[in-house]
Amino acid sequence: MSRTALVTGGSRGIGRAVALRLAGEGVRVAVHYGSNETAAKQTVDDIQAAGGEAFAVRADLSEPDAAEQVWRQFDAVADGLDVLVNNAAIGRHQPLADVTPEWFDRLVAVNAKAPFFLIQQGLSRLRDGGRIVNIGSGVTRIAFPQDTAYSMTKGALNTLTLALAKELGPRGITVNTVAPGIIETDMNDWLADPEAARAAAEYSVFERVGQPEDVADVVAFVASEQARWITGQWIDATGGSRL
Ligand code: NDP
Repeated sequence: MSRTALVTGGSRGIGRAVALRLAGEGVRVAVHYGSNETAAKQTVDDIQAAGGEAFAVRADLSEPDAAEQVWRQFDAVADGLDVLVNNAAIGRHQPLADVTPEWFDRLVAVNAKAPFFLIQQGLSRLRDGGRIVNIGSGVTRIAFPQDTAYSMTKGALNTLTLALAKELGPRGITVNTVAPGIIETDMNDWLADPEAARAAAEYSVFERVGQPEDVADVVAFVASEQARWITGQWIDATGGSRL
């Protein structure tokens, strides 16, 4: 039987690359998105055009019943889950003084609360031997004062990973965080400025900005059978940033 994955934020950026990568290995992928239906459809179409299986699932993860919405749509198509990739998140560069309570709440809702409840309600669907991959960030290792509130939400995910790995170990389920560095996606539209892009490239020992596929390959490994002995870990996928 082929495996089934849910990739949140699979419509664009890193999530799209993860969805395509897993589908290329024969995994059926539920491509979750928030509002960009065109992008989600494109990801699904690209997977199907390459001979893979995919379907779209829509839910705004800032809504209190987001997890219910996701699993209801998922259950209408799939019977059980093997891989959950909590990838969707929001963030923008913002000095501490500009963070409003409303934006803080939204950051926490999308980046930390939604993954928690997706997992809580997804556990009955996740088969023994399954995989949970949370997409964290290099900002929990490298101080990024322009992203303090966002960084806090990623720190919460790291803690979620650690505690859950212990709880789910007896079922053979691994739980890990994959932490990207600076990746060229819509989230980083500031990379359009050549000077900023040059400075961003200097973070990595490879002297370039990362691409979504650089992260997707790491996620695919962590989601594979080969990674069965790795759990509860924060896996640095920053291209050796600020070593
Ligand atoms: P993008 O901004 O390119 O894509 C974000 C994705 O998340 C989209 O699929 C989007 O859906 C979805 N999404 C955003 N808000 C919501 C919401 N409220 N409800 C449901 N879905 C939502 O992000 P990236 O690919 O850059 O980031 C992916 C992950 O990687 C995130 O967890 C991010 O924090 C992390 N990361 C990214 C880095 C980078 O440099 N890019 C660095 C370190 C970590 P839709 O298309 O419908 O809008």
